[in-house]
Amino acid sequence: MSLPENFKAFVVTETPARQFVWEVKQKPLHELAADEVLIEVKYSSLNYKDALSATGNKGVTRNYPHTPGIDAAGLVAESSNLAFEEGDEVIVTGFDLGMNTSGGFGQYIRVPASWVLRLPGNLTLRESMAYGTAGFTAALCLLKLQAYGLTKESGEVLVTGATGGVGSIAVGILAKAGFHVVAATGKSDKKDFLTGLGAAQVISRDEANDGSGRPILKGRWAGVVDTVGGPILATAIKSTKYGGWLVCCGNAMSSDLAVSLFPFILRGVNLLGVNSVDAPRQDRLLAWQKLAQDWKLDLSGDLVSECALEELSPKIDQILKGAIWGRIVINLNR
Ligand code: NDP
Repeated sequence: MSLPENFKAFVVTETPARQFVWEVKQKPLHELAADEVLIEVKYSSLNYKDALSATGNKGVTRNYPHTPGIDAAGLVAESSNLAFEEGDEVIVTGFDLGMNTSGGFGQYIRVPASWVLRLPGNLTLRESMAYGTAGFTAALCLLKLQAYGLTKESGEVLVTGATGGVGSIAVGILAKAGFHVVAATGKSDKKDFLTGLGAAQVISRDEANDGSGRPILKGRWAGVVDTVGGPILATAIKSTKYGGWLVCCGNAMSSDLAVSLFPFILRGVNLLGVNSVDAPRQDRLLAWQKLAQDWKLDLSGDLVSECALEELSPKIDQILKGAIWGRIVINLNR
C-alpha cells in the first residue's frame, strides 16, 4: 500500500487565550506516534468524551493541537507486529485513542497492537462504528448485570439517558435479549424512537428524579443501566427491588451521588461500575461477539446517522447539550 505524506483530520488547537478552535486540515503522517500498527480509518463515531476532548477538558486531553476520536474502524496499512497484516479489517476503541493519542477523527491512526481487535464477523466496518464505544459500553453493562444474576424473569430494567449513545444501544440490546425495558428520557418527543428500539415503557426525566428527599422508595427495578449519575442514579438506587443490580457507567447529569445507605442495608441493592476504556481483551471479545450476533440491532434505521468531518462541529455542540439521540457515525471518506 502506498502511503500518503499527509492525511485529512479534525484538529483542535488551543489559542493563547485558552480558546479551543476546530479545523479540518491536512496533517503529516510522520507526526503520528511511532507505534506498531498504522490503520487507514474508514469510519469513526461521536461519543460524549470526544466533545470533552474537543473543548479542552484536560482530564481527557492534556496537550493540543490534538485530533480527538476514541473510536476507529479501518484497514491495516502497515504493521510491525505479526498479529496483523496489511489489509486486515480492524477496530480500536478506548485505551488512549483520541485522548492523548491522535484519534479516529483523522484518516490515519498509529497504535500498539494490543489496542487492535479484528473486525468481529457479521459486522461491517460502518456497523462496528454505529455501535462504537457507546455500544461496547452498553454491552459491557448488560454482560455485567447478567454475570451477577439478572435474567429477563427478574423484572423491569431501567435505562437512564435513554436516547443518548450508550442509553439507546442499551435499550435496544436489553430488549433484543428479552428484558422488559423502561426508558427514562428528557426528550418528550422521542417516545416513538425509544419504543421502536424495544422499550416497553418510556418515563420522563422528572419521573426518574425523585424530589421527595425520602431515603428509600417503593422497589421497582430489578436492574438499572445508568448513564447520567447524580440525583437520577440516587433515585434509581432508592427504587431498586430487593437484591437488584445497578450498573453505572456515565455522568452526563453529575458525577456526585448523594444517597443514604438504606437501599444497601435494608434491600441488599448492588451498585456496580463499568469502565470500557481499560476493559480486558476477553471482555472486549465477548461484548463485540454479542453485539455482532445475539444482540445485533438493526443499524440501518433512525438509530444511526452519518456525517463527514466537515459536518462535525455542530454535532459536538449538540452532544455537549445532551441534545443528540442515537449514534453518529463519521465517514472519513466523505
Ligand atoms: P450522549 O450525550 O450520547 O448521551 C447522554 C444522554 O444523557 C443524553 O442524550 C440525555 O438523554 C441524557 N442527559 C444529558 N444531559 C443530562 C442532564 N443534565 N441530566 C440528565 N440527563 C442528561 O453521551 P454518551 O451516551 O456517549 O455517554 C453517556 C455517559 O456515559 C457520558 O457521561 C460518558 O462520559 C459516559 N461513558 C462512559 C463510558 C465508560 O466506559 N464508563 C463509556 C462511554 C460513555 P435523554 O435526553 O434521553 O435523557
